[in-house]
Amino acid sequence: MRLTENVYLVGSGHFGLSQDFDSSVYVVNCNGSLVMIDTGAGCNIDIILKNIRKDGLNPENISNVLLTHYHADHAGGAKKLKDLIGCKVYISAIEADVLKNGDEKGLKLDIAKRSGLYSPDYVFSNCEASVELRNNDLISCNDFVFKALNIPGHSEGSICYFIDLPEGKALFSGDVVFAEGVIGLLNCDGSNLSDYRNYMNRLSNLNVDMLFPGHFVFVLSKGQKHIDKAIASLSLLGLPKNFI
Ligand SMILES: [Zn+2]
Repeated sequence: MRLTENVYLVGSGHFGLSQDFDSSVYVVNCNGSLVMIDTGAGCNIDIILKNIRKDGLNPENISNVLLTHYHADHAGGAKKLKDLIGCKVYISAIEADVLKNGDEKGLKLDIAKRSGLYSPDYVFSNCEASVELRNNDLISCNDFVFKALNIPGHSEGSICYFIDLPEGKALFSGDVVFAEGVIGLLNCDGSNLSDYRNYMNRLSNLNVDMLFPGHFVFVLSKGQKHIDKAIASLSLLGLPKNFI
């Protein structure tokens, strides 16, 4: 589903575009080379590839897969895509090891299954990253440049990808921040509110137009207002609005 001149939504459980557990999966058309942000859980990667074809794009042109973090609903399809297409997989250096070697406990899949987020028989495909990212790293694809911003809070290595597109400034925010300033705090190791308080201001003053989160609705203008709402709520005594 084409959202803007260069951005497509090609997978999403929420919107019924792909398998139920899938996060939102976006593709950015960088002058013919495709950059995918997150992969969904990997249960049925064919639906996502089919959606890409329906949008008039060729999945074989996916050059880079940028993972926002290691959680299965975002990263579970990375191994299959890498094997199938030969694309490079990017993730935070902090989370490369759990992506490659994590078991159900390490991946927080045990608690996620107990919480009803995945079927009990779901199996995660571990994946070796091609590139390990650090805060402020740049990823170039033709004339398009993505900036990796590490925002711990949802997970320690959570990365938001910022890009200045011809149609406006975009942020792919993973599970760090959603529309209306909702945050993605979890009750498990690696997720904590003090990280949110310490690092969310890395997303201030970006003048984001389009906010593309890992779940639920996306925003096509004035995206920064939604981010600023989260930043403001993190400076108050009450708990910010949370996604689950
Ligand atoms: Zn997550």
